[in-house]
Parts: sequence; structure tokens; C-alpha cells
Amino acid sequence: MFACLADRLRRVCMMTIVQDINDFLEAFAPSRLAEDWDNVGLLVGDPTQTVRRVMACLTVTPASTAEAIRENVDLIVSHHPLPFHPLKRLTTESIPGRMLWQLIRAGVSIHSPHTRFDSAAMGINQRLAEGLGLVNIKPLVPADDDPDGLGAGRYGDFDVPLSLVECSARLKQFLSIEGLHAVGPYDRSIRRVAVACGSAGSFLGAARRNSCDLLVTGETTFHTCLDAEGAHVALLLPGHFASERFAVEVLAKVIAEHFADIEVWPSRDEADPLRWL
Ligand SMILES: [Zn+2]
Repeated sequence: MFACLADRLRRVCMMTIVQDINDFLEAFAPSRLAEDWDNVGLLVGDPTQTVRRVMACLTVTPASTAEAIRENVDLIVSHHPLPFHPLKRLTTESIPGRMLWQLIRAGVSIHSPHTRFDSAAMGINQRLAEGLGLVNIKPLVPADDDPDGLGAGRYGDFDVPLSLVECSARLKQFLSIEGLHAVGPYDRSIRRVAVACGSAGSFLGAARRNSCDLLVTGETTFHTCLDAEGAHVALLLPGHFASERFAVEVLAKVIAEHFADIEVWPSRDEADPLRWL
């Protein structure tokens, strides 16, 4: 009865709770799009907790954890999941354990959309493909029987073929970065492009099957670079952070637009751990 009364009171006062944001994110990036190995949704917290302040981030790190606690955040929406692996103990003796301990003590919930957001209709890969200026955008690996025809990664075409250097310039501008790694061929004009954010060298085969001239992914291994070169598929590798962080900023805006009563921002303290020296 008390729970029922509390629920009615909340609706009268129009307070947002963690479950409301879960429901919104589930509609925006449905769980059916998550990869089997992933760990998504509300991973830490209390669905009935009132939310006034939300911080979006790419990853829960010591820096983003400190920011969340300092800023009295109620909910972190972290693209990368924490916890990701099953936990047998939760102590401050490991870095993830310490962050979780600190966040739980501070009453901070964690929601992670991860591969749901990668693959969503207006998710990271769709935005990357649109940001590059591709048209006729389709899933690179369609999900089986998805009612909306969605799936992992995207590929599409340029109206007018570009050189690899021109593609690189567009990507750098879209992601606001100064440099990236590239694998040739450098002399071929590029018409069809595959995009897969994060660490998605495993999509090289799908890019080849769809006759893509170029695969854009955040990062991959040396041997995948050799495989791509051998297969005459160019690669642009802007870095894992850059390939996804722009979308965290978008996600913060999307949540803020839907929930007028809460303050939402993308983490100001998280940064790419990789630097060029
Ligand atoms: Zn990632």
C-alpha cells in the first residue's frame, strides 16, 4: 500500500525515477539489439530512486566516478558497462570494485546501453554513417528477424566517390580530432563505406561481403590491418574513444530533451587515455 501511495505521489509531483530513464533508453535503444556477450541495462542501483542529476559518459573510470560523486549525480548512463564480467566479490582491492563501492555508497545508479546504442535506429553507427555523408545506409550485419530491419554496424555509399584522404578529412572534422590511423590502398576512389564504432575489426569480413572500399572503426589489431591491406579494403581508425564519445554527448542531449526536470551532461573529466607524443 505504501509503495502504491508513493507511486501516486510521485506521479502527482512528476518526479523522474531511475525506472523512467530505463524505460526511455529501452525504447530509444531496445535490448533486443544488444550482442549476446554484452551486459546492458540497469547494472547498479534502485529503479525507484528519484533522479535529479544524470551524467553520461563513455566509461566509468576513476575520473568519471570522482566527477559523478562530486556533482551529486543520481544516475550515470555509461556507454561501456560496469560491471561487465560477473562479480564474485565487491571490494576496494580492484579498480572496478573500488569504483563500484564508491558509487554505491554515494547512491549512484549505473545504466549501460552499450551495443544496444551502437545498433539503434539513431545509435552510434547510424550517426557515424550520416556524419560521413553516406546515403542508402543499411545494417552491416542485419539482426535475425528484427522488426525494424536493424542490426550491427552500418554501410552506405557516397554520391560522389572520394579519395581516402578526403574521407579521412570528413571523419576528422565530424569527430573533432586532429589525426587518425589509416591503412591503404590510398589510390582507389571510395564509394562504399562500412562503419562500426569501438573495436570492430571483426567486421572486416562483413565489409568485404558488402563490397565496401573502406571500413571505419575505432581501433583494431595489427594483424587485422594486414588482413585489410591484403583484401584491398582501406581502414580509417580514429581511436576507440573518438569513435564513440561524440555519441555520449548526443545521448546526454536526447535524455535532457525528454526529461525537462533533470540536469544531464556528458562527463567533463573523462578523456582518451591514448595521446600522441
Ligand atoms: Zn566501445
